[in-house]
Amino acid sequence: MRDSAHLLIVEDEPVTREFLAACLEKEGYVVTRVECGAEMWRCLDAAAVDLVLMDINLPDEDGFSLTRSLRQRSDIGIILVSARNEDLDRIVGLELGADDYVVKPFNDRELLLRVKNLLRRTRRQRQEEEVANSRYRFHGWTLDTERRRLTSPAGDVVPLTNGEYQLLSVFVRRPGRVFTRDQLLEAVSSRDWMPNDRTIDVLVNRLRRKINESSVPRMLVTVHGVGYQFLWESE
Ligand code: CA
Repeated sequence: MRDSAHLLIVEDEPVTREFLAACLEKEGYVVTRVECGAEMWRCLDAAAVDLVLMDINLPDEDGFSLTRSLRQRSDIGIILVSARNEDLDRIVGLELGADDYVVKPFNDRELLLRVKNLLRRTRRQRQEEEVANSRYRFHGWTLDTERRRLTSPAGDVVPLTNGEYQLLSVFVRRPGRVFTRDQLLEAVSSRDWMPNDRTIDVLVNRLRRKINESSVPRMLVTVHGVGYQFLWESE
């Protein structure tokens, strides 16, 4: 089935812009091309857009600043298209609220995979937000966020500490999203509990053991130099 989602490309460099657009149109997506932030806002005001692919160096406002403003007012999927292959840039982009990034030069298969995954994620999120009783299922596991209960594929309740529960609930709510350690730290800290940087790695390892990850994790994966990402296919 072809996906006719509406994608918005914000890119001032014509060759990259047309390459992106051609890849996406070939898959059946509806693509709008703009060259700067001002045009992006005009397009978003005028039409329903499912996902934005944004260059970082733009003629007016840069992609980081646009990401921050866009995230403040919308849950729309955002992929940053970066010419700089530096961890710092990726972390800055993710912390400002981008969902994912690709680094130029990228190949079309990688790009399409990221677009497809993000569309699936944002749609599922929307559906899940509508479901009042919040149950998240992954590889046979169920996390019930109302009862704060994790159930294994065999049907056993697996006890979680408060920190483990909070961390897992952050991951299941945003499957596929890359989180930096600082973001996770912020998400699991509370008035009674102030974890430090190392705690995140310790918690992740404890969670991995509880959800029976093997020595090569397939759900809770490390994103080298950045943080962690929770992956699962919809069931
Ligand atoms: Ca540019």
